[in-house]
Order: sequence, then structure tokens, then C-alpha cells
Amino acid sequence: MKLLVVFFPQMKMDIRKKSKIIRSVNQMAKLSSLWKKNSKIVTLVPTMGSLHEGHVSLIKKAKESSEITVVSIFINPTQFDSKEDFINYPSNNNLDFLKCNELGVDVIFIPRKDEMFDESYSTWVYEDNLSKKGLCDRTRSIHFKGVCTIVLKLFNLISPNIVIFGEKDAQQLRIINKMIVDLNLSIKLISCPIIRDANGLAISSRNQRLTKEELKRASKIFKSFQKVSYIYRNGETSSSVLIEYLRTFLDQNKITMIDYIKIVDIDNLNDISKVRNNCLIMIAVYIGQVRLIDNYLLSN
Ligand code: AMP
Repeated sequence: MKLLVVFFPQMKMDIRKKSKIIRSVNQMAKLSSLWKKNSKIVTLVPTMGSLHEGHVSLIKKAKESSEITVVSIFINPTQFDSKEDFINYPSNNNLDFLKCNELGVDVIFIPRKDEMFDESYSTWVYEDNLSKKGLCDRTRSIHFKGVCTIVLKLFNLISPNIVIFGEKDAQQLRIINKMIVDLNLSIKLISCPIIRDANGLAISSRNQRLTKEELKRASKIFKSFQKVSYIYRNGETSSSVLIEYLRTFLDQNKITMIDYIKIVDIDNLNDISKVRNNCLIMIAVYIGQVRLIDNYLLSN
């Protein structure tokens, strides 16, 4: 008897494993000790969710080097100076889960706030140099204390071999790197470049809160970086002159609420007066109610 084999493409089963969602701290710790016992290479991508192309680039990078990829999603209340900013921070867990599934993330760790920071919580991690450069610390006094603390807690619970951070948060990246070195953590930090939209705006979860007009205005940040970079490449090396140009370009584009603009040494984040290659322009501005940060490498 002949068998008739019929192929129905629409019935093709999706055999890709779904990301495992873990909400309990104990469950996360148990699983990570199992991975350790089995010598698995674990890579962690810490996020606050509302995953976008920037996060996707980090997850793809993680997938290159790991046997197990973990994405943590936690809007960390301890790193927000403003309660309003915390409350307004976007969240879309279901969409995040779908994206993680598509990207082949093994585990999504999405702990409960009260388990990570219960009412009696009182232990903090400080980095005491790079966190005091008059950059994001200028107006956000508790921010990096909250960041270091949550990141170390995630490291303890997940025991990653590798962790991936984005260069978009340039100060954070350097602080976490310093914490890893200072606390002798056996974790390799990999950084990924800033992902921008078609108009050059650094992609951020906060961009969702911008109106069409504000989005257009925000894209002028990158255009201003490019103009200043051009002036630098044509011989202007005074940091204060370049910063003044930047302020003028931003002002011309109605970006007037500036938290900080600095040109700093790429490694130690110290202010520099004479710009040389591999200095970073670092900026935080408000567009409407939304605070945006960005940075740009000056080089020939
Ligand atoms: P967040 O969810 O904003 O806390 O960001 C989580 C990670 O994604 C951090 O390491 C950020 O630096 C990184 N990240 C955020 N936006 C971008 C972007 N546009 N390009 C690259 N990395 C990013």
C-alpha cells in the first residue's frame, strides 16, 4: 500500500523552545546553581523591559557567546530619583516575552519588586569615583547606587559568566566595569554600540513618550554631534568652544532644557579641555517631559 504524504505549510509546528519565565528569586538561584554544576556558559542581558532594537542587539550579541542566555526585566525603583519618572516608565511584558521567544532567549528573569527590595531592605553598593563626574549623577543622586545594587544582586542570583551592556549608557557601562574589577567578580563584560533610528536618534524606551514633533526635535541631537565632530576634524580642539557650538546647534533646534553637556576622557570620564581622539561627548537633555541621554565618540 502506498502512503500519500501531504505537506501542509500552514500546519508547520513551531518547534523552537519558548523562553522560560522565572519570577521567583529562589527558583532563579536554584536554576543558576544547576547551570554552574553543569559548567554552562551563561550570558546575562540586564534590562528594564519595553525591549527595542537596542536591547535586541545586546541579546543577539549574548546569543553569539553563550550556551544559556538570560534576559532580566526589572524596572528598578531604587535607581529613580523621581517617583513620577518611575511610575511613567513604559512596560510591556507580553511583547517583551514574544521578542525574547523569537530571539531564542532561554530564560527571562522578571522578579517581583518586593522580593528584590522588601520593606526592610538596607544594603547598598556604591562606586565612588566614576559615579561622581557631574554627568548623570549631577541631578540623579541615588541613580548609580541603585544601578550597582540591582546589577550585583542579579549577578549573585544568576551567576553569569558574561554580561552585556550598551554603550548608550556610557557612564553606567564604566561604573559596572569598575565594580566588576574592584569586587573581583569573575564576569566578562561585553559592550555593544548604540543603535539609532533612521534619523539618528538613539533608540530608548523613553522615546515612546515623545510626540511626533518631539521625536523630530530629538533627532537633532545626533545631527548636532555630527556638526561638532566635523568642526573638530577641521582643527578645533578647545572643548569649551566645541561645547558652545553644540549648545548653539541644539538651541537652534529648540533643544534648550539641557541637564549636562561634557566632553570627557573615554576611560576615566574626566573633563578635558583640549580634545584629542577618542574623547566622548556626553549629553542629557529634556525634550518635553522626557529626559534623553546620548553620547558620541570624537575621532578623526
Ligand atoms: P534599559 O532597559 O534602558 O535599562 O537598558 C538595558 C540595556 O540596553 C543597557 O545596557 C543599555 O545601555 C542598553 N541599551 C539601551 N538602549 C540602547 C541602544 N539604543 N543601543 C544599544 N544599547 C542600548
